[in-house]
Amino acid sequence: MPSYVIQEKCDGCKALDKTACQHICPNDLMVLNKEAMKAYNLEPEMCWECYNCVKICPNQAIEVRGYADFVPLGAQVTPMRSSDSIMWTIKFRGGELKRFKFPIRTTAEGSAVPNGAFDEGAADISAAELFTEPASTGLAELAAPGRTGWQ
Ligand code: SF4
Ligand code: SF4
Repeated sequence: MPSYVIQEKCDGCKALDKTACQHICPNDLMVLNKEAMKAYNLEPEMCWECYNCVKICPNQAIEVRGYADFVPLGAQVTPMRSSDSIMWTIKFRGGELKRFKFPIRTTAEGSAVPNGAFDEGAADISAAELFTEPASTGLAELAAPGRTGWQ
């Protein structure tokens, strides 16, 4: 079941140029009604229920009715992100609540090095291996396709 916006909770991301849900949706489905300052899913039938908008919304204003193999029938799942973890609150149809907290980072926020400090510009575009190889494998002697010794 596609995502839907709980209108009472949505504040239109406080009138920023592009809302968080618009920014994150890989299918470009979310739009903002600028008069009401409320977002909505323009094409629900195109939603693949990836939960990106649900996780990024700062107001927990978006929900997806998940499939029963992931979300128990009639339950709601609501995420709450922090800088290093995400807390999922599951509300069962009988009213019972359960919470699950997971780490979402292995590095401090803002400390990730783009490209892992490998120089993409120095890559040989016609080479068979990735631009980080063989250094990123830790096996300098690892043979790549097309090299002598590849099997
Ligand atoms: S991210 Fe949430 S608060 Fe922001 S516009 Fe979308 S639904 Fe509304
Ligand atoms: S669940 Fe994914 S595909 Fe559906 S509206 Fe949200 S971000 Fe877009």
